[in-house]
Amino acid sequence: MNQLKKLNEIYDEIHKQFVEVSKLSWTQYTAGYDFGVQEAYEKAVEKLKDKKNYEAIQSCLELELSPVDSRRVEIVQNMFQPYHLSKELNTLDSEIKRKVNELSKVLNTFRYSFNGQTVSSVDLSQILSSNPDREMRKKAYFARNQINKAMIDAGFLDLLELRKEYAKAYGSENFVTHMLEKNELDPSTFEGWKEQLHESLPKMNQARTRFAQEYLKDDQIMPWDEAYIDSKVAPSLNKQVDMSEYYTNIQELFNIFDIDISKFNITYDIFPRANKSEWGYNFPVETAKDSRILANVKNRYFEYGVLLHETGHAVHSFLLDPEEKILNKGVSGIISEGIANLFQGFLYSPVFYEKFFEDKNTVERQFTNLKEYKKLNSLRAVNRIFLDHKMYTTKLNSLDDVHQLYWNNQKELLDENPFDMDPPWAYIIHFTTHPIYLHNYFMGDVTCEMLSKVFERKFDASMVEKPKEFGQFLINEVIKPSGTYKYNDLFKKISGEEFSLKYMLD
Ligand SMILES: [Zn+2]
Repeated sequence: MNQLKKLNEIYDEIHKQFVEVSKLSWTQYTAGYDFGVQEAYEKAVEKLKDKKNYEAIQSCLELELSPVDSRRVEIVQNMFQPYHLSKELNTLDSEIKRKVNELSKVLNTFRYSFNGQTVSSVDLSQILSSNPDREMRKKAYFARNQINKAMIDAGFLDLLELRKEYAKAYGSENFVTHMLEKNELDPSTFEGWKEQLHESLPKMNQARTRFAQEYLKDDQIMPWDEAYIDSKVAPSLNKQVDMSEYYTNIQELFNIFDIDISKFNITYDIFPRANKSEWGYNFPVETAKDSRILANVKNRYFEYGVLLHETGHAVHSFLLDPEEKILNKGVSGIISEGIANLFQGFLYSPVFYEKFFEDKNTVERQFTNLKEYKKLNSLRAVNRIFLDHKMYTTKLNSLDDVHQLYWNNQKELLDENPFDMDPPWAYIIHFTTHPIYLHNYFMGDVTCEMLSKVFERKFDASMVEKPKEFGQFLINEVIKPSGTYKYNDLFKKISGEEFSLKYMLD
């Protein structure tokens, strides 16, 4: 059919231009040089705004198509449609992109000071996870609030306003519902989450008090104790490792599932330096062709978590069909983070850790306890997810307003009171670069729990007992259909049930 051929041609052009944007962003995030991210983005948008392109796509909507072809048309239509509603929306879109780009530069180049010295976020993480001096940890925790003002000064509140205006001009109820629609999720997705969190709080807090008494000689775990408690439950997390061996170690884990990462074009940039973003990222530059990983690690076992997570994204990309450019665009962020978190979880599995430790029984005990403890705390993620939402449903005029919102949200969700210092929040890149995205990690974890249960039911074995079968299961049941189905449909197709938090609760 000629019209579908045309659709593919149009999409190919846009795809090429977005690959350029991604390559330029990679340079900006790893080296601090901006060789024209905004210009490249504008070029891609020009193609999306093209009236003839849009007409060609519209004509496909009238065709009698197979379900998978309809899905292809739907994905491209969803990409184009926002650029053909009004001039105002297009102007706002461009201003938002420009603001995000400016603010990203602040995020990438800002460095914290601690005890009179400039430190990296890796240094702060290491203090938080291993320093027995609670006051020192508190100081390291609050050092992260140094970037709040810098981000407000650079226009973070203007970015929020622009996004709110965009959602309003689009006709959405607010920016949250707008993003849900854009990501093909039901507007009721978050309904009942707060209630479920409240229901599990008493049990969660009881356990937290027990851990606080044991490891802190206090009744309460404070935010600056979280990573420290993890490493008290599982001291093996802080073991010194030689990170120059990282590639072989990661490769050997994926080999177990019959996935050979040496066949994939994955670029790793994993050590900290000036002008480089301090987060962990995967840049999915071009699906199944070029995937790049940015991380910041030094020499600790727990840092493998981020490397496994980002490699999970890369592997997901390379297991997709590079020719299915349009369907690949339809992969849900939940599936993408779910697969990444699944591989990150092998940090606690003997199939990965056994080569790092001699006393395997001790490590096994530690990591089993840690996993239980983390699962018990998993619903706390809702606190941060809802803070992100409320930034778009609350009027914010100043840094103090954001802090007030932070405390109110924490009180409402976790029933915890404010501290005597400004809370660190702006360092979390998602508020700036990936708004209304944090639920993907949490829902991704729920998806992983579901996958492992379905696998165990079907194969009568756990994923590490039959790793090759699990590799195949993951590829055939999850990765291959991941662009063809919307998230909720895929979840139902695999599990036979609607999405539910119950997988996290039992
Ligand atoms: Zn991720």
